[in-house]
Amino acid sequence: MKFWVNNNGKEESVQAADKIRRELIAHDFVLDQKAPSLVISVGGDGTLLSTFHAYIDHLDTVKFVALHTGHLGFYSDWTDDEIDELVARIIEQGDDIPATSYPLIDVEIDAKDGSVIKGTAINEVIVRRLSALTLKTQVDIDNEYFESFRGDGLCFATPTGSTAYSKSIGGALIHPKVNVFQMVEIASINNRVYRTISSPIVIPADQIVHLYPQDAEDYVVNFDGKVVKLKDTECIKAQLSPQRAQFAQYRHRHFWTRVETAFLGKND
Ligand code: NAD
Repeated sequence: MKFWVNNNGKEESVQAADKIRRELIAHDFVLDQKAPSLVISVGGDGTLLSTFHAYIDHLDTVKFVALHTGHLGFYSDWTDDEIDELVARIIEQGDDIPATSYPLIDVEIDAKDGSVIKGTAINEVIVRRLSALTLKTQVDIDNEYFESFRGDGLCFATPTGSTAYSKSIGGALIHPKVNVFQMVEIASINNRVYRTISSPIVIPADQIVHLYPQDAEDYVVNFDGKVVKLKDTECIKAQLSPQRAQFAQYRHRHFWTRVETAFLGKND
């Protein structure tokens, strides 16, 4: 089986990655950066996010597994003292990688000059003004007018991203089995001209959100922390992606247990 190991460059991650690489090669696994079946991310959630984006054009063929060498992560659910167990499971399963898949968000940005930028996120896409000015935009859902938004910005989060930035701004936690995305407001202004729903809303897989920004000169769109600057935006389209991210599931970890462990702490 072809595999690749990515790490965040920290000493403990480099060592953990070396160990995994050595042991898998000793069992006839083949290192292949270009077309791996399994990509092992060693670091934290941030490392997994950059690993995911490095293989964004190979989502049909790549399965991810993540090991954390720092704080417990949401995607990175193996620790560095579990390397032997993880390697043993990988060897045992061989080509037959057990997997689960998670929803992604696709965003398309149409500029006034006709150019188009497309991007995909596993956590969230955030749209906001680059300047200190507010984002003013008409919001249509499923091709119907929904609201006139004015505020800092809008966040479109996947279910797995619901525990990340979206949670910090009041979004709901959504189990990754639910094939939806949510739109969460960032500091909306509500007055007689601009009126927003002021609640996070959950949007089904077959519906598209269109934003038509006013004074649309300077916008940034943030894909999982990676910022893209925009000029003269005509329309921003957000929807659930037809693609999904596949994660190798060498053992099952309950989503709500992950939530409890990360945010509440074990009730001993
Ligand atoms: P970072 O190093 O600033 O990481 C921020 C934190 O977000 C880390 O603790 C990371 O473990 C956590 N995180 C990432 N994905 C998560 C997920 N799906 N569920 C729960 N926690 C998650 O930045 P980074 O490592 O480059 O990661 C970028 C991500 O950080 C963004 O996608 C965004 O969701 C998140 N972030 C959150 C806030 C916030 O909550 N206020 C602010 C900035 C970025």
